[in-house]
Formats: sequence, structure tokens, C-alpha cells
Amino acid sequence: MHENGWYYNACPNPNCGKKLNMNTGGYDCTKHGVVDPIQKYILKFDIEDNTATARASAFEEVASTLMKKRWN
Ligand SMILES: [Zn+2]
Repeated sequence: MHENGWYYNACPNPNCGKKLNMNTGGYDCTKHGVVDPIQKYILKFDIEDNTATARASAFEEVASTLMKKRWN
């Protein structure tokens, strides 16, 4: 974990996204030099997992409602 906690400053270039080092000139990408940082979330995958789980249980609820209708 870093001082920023939830996110870190990353290179905004597509297919790069390297973590930037702050220096006197600003945020520095080892490939692209000084860039305007974007924030990347460290817990991205955890959030995606939670969303997937929430969706799965929502589907399950709809499915069981449909089943009840069919049985009644
Ligand atoms: Zn870069």
C-alpha cells in the first residue's frame, strides 16, 4: 500500500499505465517522460469481483422468481 491508499498515479498513455515517480519536473514515466498522471485504483479487481458476485445473486433471485411463477 502507498500513501495514496486506494489509487496511485499512473501514465495516461494507452498500453503503458506504469506507476509514475514524482520528481522536480512533475510525474515521470520511465518510458514517456513527464506526463499528466491518471489515477489507477489498487483495489480494481476486488471491486470487479464484488460486482460480479452481486450480479450473480441478482440473476439467481430473478431465476427463482421465474421458477415460482412456473410452479404456481
Ligand atoms: Zn508511460
